[in-house]
Amino acid sequence: MASLEELTTGDLQALARRHLWMHFTNMGAYDEAHEVPIVVRGEGCHVYDQHGRRYFDGLSALFCVNVGHGRAELAQAGADQARELGFFTNWSSAHPTSIHLAARIASLAPGDLNRVFFTSGGSEAVESALKLCRQYHKLTGAPGRYKVISRRLAYHGTTMGALTATGIPAVRAPFEPLFPGSAHVANTNAYRPETGDPAEAIRERIEFEGPETVSCVILEPVQNSGGCLVPPEGYFQRVREICDEYGVLFISDEVICSWGRLGEWFGAQRYGYEPDIITTAKGLTSAYAPMGAVIASDRVFAPFADGHGAFAHGLTFGGHPVSAAVALANLDLLEGEGLNDHVRGNQGAFRAMLESLLEIPIVGDVRGAGYFMALELVRDKETKATFTAEECDWLLRDFLSPDLFRRGLICRADDRGDPVLQLSPPLIAGPGDFAEIEAALRPALEEASRRLDVG
Ligand code: PLP
Repeated sequence: MASLEELTTGDLQALARRHLWMHFTNMGAYDEAHEVPIVVRGEGCHVYDQHGRRYFDGLSALFCVNVGHGRAELAQAGADQARELGFFTNWSSAHPTSIHLAARIASLAPGDLNRVFFTSGGSEAVESALKLCRQYHKLTGAPGRYKVISRRLAYHGTTMGALTATGIPAVRAPFEPLFPGSAHVANTNAYRPETGDPAEAIRERIEFEGPETVSCVILEPVQNSGGCLVPPEGYFQRVREICDEYGVLFISDEVICSWGRLGEWFGAQRYGYEPDIITTAKGLTSAYAPMGAVIASDRVFAPFADGHGAFAHGLTFGGHPVSAAVALANLDLLEGEGLNDHVRGNQGAFRAMLESLLEIPIVGDVRGAGYFMALELVRDKETKATFTAEECDWLLRDFLSPDLFRRGLICRADDRGDPVLQLSPPLIAGPGDFAEIEAALRPALEEASRRLDVG
């Protein structure tokens, strides 16, 4: 077979169609006339495809390339570590890089979240956290606690345990029956409120399930799926009180919302709460190497600290030295370049640009926080009427996704709830970049309004 360097663009297309199994992707949609998007290179906020076309990466790849593309410092850190110690495990041994990283994460995490269990990514972090909660309860005299409360539409990952927490019917249905014990509650969509008091909905659900059966509540600081759903004032404080009242552990799933995405190290810091456990991944390494983590409080770790029992769980690559070295270098960049401050300083301009699009008839709502924002698209702004399934399909998949891509903008068009466009640019983005995003978004949305005869 030809070497990678010898492969032409046509070869790559053919081989991708024949051999690569892309995630969450309808592989049958690609043929000679419909190319697989093949991205070959990145620099700053931009990536380039195999034809040399340049795109603004308005999604930080998948909410994860926080420091932007092409950062030589991260490549160097990985290479240096691979030369020194390419791999050793965190199973009954350790290596300096994961120790250093664990201590550094603990120093940045809220409250007494001082114990770090590394994973290879976000689903594994959630899976590990759910198992940790179950074993914690068994060790502390509450073996009947196994249920997980999460919010409708929330995405917490795809492994079978994490999938029980995920609240997206289309992602769950192909794999049912799932593990028992999942219970879903209202989310915090202020544009289309399901309930006046979404924290109370959690309390009611705990009561309904029987508190002695409930292990944990898992929530994102800002819920991705559904379109960047922000919490109402006081929501997380009330959830904290409820969890304490019922002896339920509180997991903050920050696979997206940490490492500056919301202008803080952790989303919990932005909203002023202390969970028992944080799950994280993605921006921890700015995705230059795969890595996730479960960060547990001293209280959660306590029953594992007496020298008798282990957390009966492990992953070969958890705490991989190359990923840990990249994460440390990534934290150096985030810290050295003041990217949390940068996001806090520029989030207003980002939001203002998006809010200026509210003058387009199809744009019904702008929401989110930091560099994690969504536009909800509606048929009628006055009534908030949404589109039919066919219109939605046309709008997101047939029109906006390809049109925005053609205009050089990568973002997410999603209808796991109501139809939204999501933007989550690298944290280095500033006002010039927002103008570039607008230059693609505005004409595409105006054209969509015209074609759907909205307004
Ligand atoms: N949890 C949340 C909140 C996520 O957004 C994601 C992925 O987007 C996951 C978990 C799963 O992470 P991964 O895709 O790294 O397994």
